[in-house]
Amino acid sequence: MNIRRSIFCIPMFIALVNSAVIVNEGDVDQQGLYSKSDRVDILTNRNFERKIYGQKHALLVQFYNSYCGHCRSFAPRFKAMATEVTTWKNIIRLGVLDCSVEENNEICRQFEVMAYPSLRYLHEFYVKGNGNIGEKVHIADSPEKLKSNLITKMQSEQVSGRLITAPSLHIDSYSSYSAVFKSLPHDINYAFLVLENVNSTIGSELALDMNDYQHIRVVRVSETSELSNIANIKQFPAVIALSSTLEPILMYPKEPTKQSFLKAINSFLKSRNYVFPVRDQGSQEIITNENSDEYPATLNTDLVYYSDLEKTLKTSLHTEITRFKSLTGEPLQALLDYLDVLITSFPSRGNVKEYLMDLYTTLKTRKTWSGSEIYELVNNLETEHAPVYTTNNLEYIRCKGSQTKFRGYTCGLWTLFHTLTVNAAQKLDTTDGPKVLKAMHGYVKNFFGCTDCAMHFQAMAARNRIFDVKENDKAVLWLWIAHNEVNLRLAGDVTEDPVHPKIQFPSVSRCPECRLARGAWNLPAVYQYLQNVYGADNIQMMRRTITSAAASPFSNLDIGMLSLLYM
Ligand SMILES: Cc1cc2nc3c(=O)[nH]c(=O)nc-3n(C[C@H](O)[C@H](O)[C@H](O)COP(=O)(O)OP(=O)(O)OC[C@H]3O[C@@H](n4cnc5c(N)ncnc54)[C@H](O)[C@@H]3O)c2cc1C
Repeated sequence: MNIRRSIFCIPMFIALVNSAVIVNEGDVDQQGLYSKSDRVDILTNRNFERKIYGQKHALLVQFYNSYCGHCRSFAPRFKAMATEVTTWKNIIRLGVLDCSVEENNEICRQFEVMAYPSLRYLHEFYVKGNGNIGEKVHIADSPEKLKSNLITKMQSEQVSGRLITAPSLHIDSYSSYSAVFKSLPHDINYAFLVLENVNSTIGSELALDMNDYQHIRVVRVSETSELSNIANIKQFPAVIALSSTLEPILMYPKEPTKQSFLKAINSFLKSRNYVFPVRDQGSQEIITNENSDEYPATLNTDLVYYSDLEKTLKTSLHTEITRFKSLTGEPLQALLDYLDVLITSFPSRGNVKEYLMDLYTTLKTRKTWSGSEIYELVNNLETEHAPVYTTNNLEYIRCKGSQTKFRGYTCGLWTLFHTLTVNAAQKLDTTDGPKVLKAMHGYVKNFFGCTDCAMHFQAMAARNRIFDVKENDKAVLWLWIAHNEVNLRLAGDVTEDPVHPKIQFPSVSRCPECRLARGAWNLPAVYQYLQNVYGADNIQMMRRTITSAAASPFSNLDIGMLSLLYM
């Protein structure tokens, strides 16, 4: 390696561095990030059509990807909303579909889901057909905002003549109490008038919450109506209980919130001996997303396993590259680049290499491929070259999380690309390392299902000048630094597995020699450590201890100078 050039190049690295439980007819109790106890319909390729098309109720479907950090942090918000809207189930239901499950992939492709998570509103009696991919609903950062986005959408649906069996979400101006009752069916005993601003969603939410209350109606009244003057209302929103004999009672909820309004209405009805609807509270069974099998503490090491690499490779080929309707131009080239570096630098065992070469050669014969064609090709070639993988039952070992919501594919992808850069660097007569970085950039940009991660990665790649890396060992270190930058950003994030905290890799305990005085990195030692962990000779079939290190390509002089740059 050219030391002087290395030193001057280094500032470019500026930064501091399903299990599914089958119930019946394709329904499952749990998949990916959600279980039935979360009050969502778990959609799969086997129940999707039955649960989606021709239903009396509308649906809000979340297409997500269980390994995307953004989806993981969004899940608690979606679950919180789902719990709040369970009683709306005759009007609208919440569904979730995990696009990282291979069998669900065709649906995600049909629905043209390109970013995760994606929310789509599907109106009642939805019909399967070309272009019927639901309407996008904005992802909000709180359950309340999510709910108000949904209510706004439902209000506009009613304006366009849909949701006719739902209570009216419309706001009107009234000049008298009798005008209100004239607009209601004869069997209504009490109307709860919510006087509010046209943009408020409290009245609509109460109407939806109380949709199954018999002989009761919630009526939205514009704050600018004459009725506000008649009732002498000065503060909005306000709520008035109005009996069919037109006796108004102004209510005093503690706070101007839906919750407070509902509490006040329920207390009022209770005092009138009202018989509340009997509600199905849903399954009380506690089903968690936690792993049921014991988490092996001994796996907390840096060792890389074939199983992790192969499972990642398989997932990328089966579910990520196939989710496009059509692949041409830059994305197709990115796929070819990815396959190319896999062919040259993946520590192949068995028939993987032949399989990848066949896939590469076939894909190269055309300028455009559809996602389904690629999916078919991948499967056919896998059968033709069987066995491609070391086992039929590939599992994450290094990348197994302490719970199913942690780690997995994203960990596998880092592991795969570190392995590729390190193994490319072991071939002294080539410069495949920088090609791996380019392929990784193309893969992440075009295929990585974690949209947010892809955006962050591209920004970092531009900042740290990924395409300026020209040497194999620089490529290894570039990726190590980039990964540490991501670790630093995500330390303490909700996506962090508590058993695997985001540290600056490698840890002091695993590689004491990787750090110099005052915490500066000892780059040659780091380089050597990366070789030990990711080098083809050290990839594990079964658990064993790390073997001894390969010789460092850095001289003592380099060590001192390089480490200065990392202080
Ligand atoms: C390209 C990319 C971008 C991402 N961007 C985001 C994002 O913006 N937001 C988000 O929430 N998630 C993002 N992720 C996911 C995130 O980085 C982790 O993969 C995820 O949180 C799981 O973390 P983990 O504990 O399994 O360890 P990971 O960070 O996935 O690391 C896997 C393993 O690699 C080893 N390792 C760690 N650091 C290094 C290093 N510097 N060099 C070599 N080996 C190392 C460790 O053994 C570790 O266990 C991204 C993933 C990728 C592949």
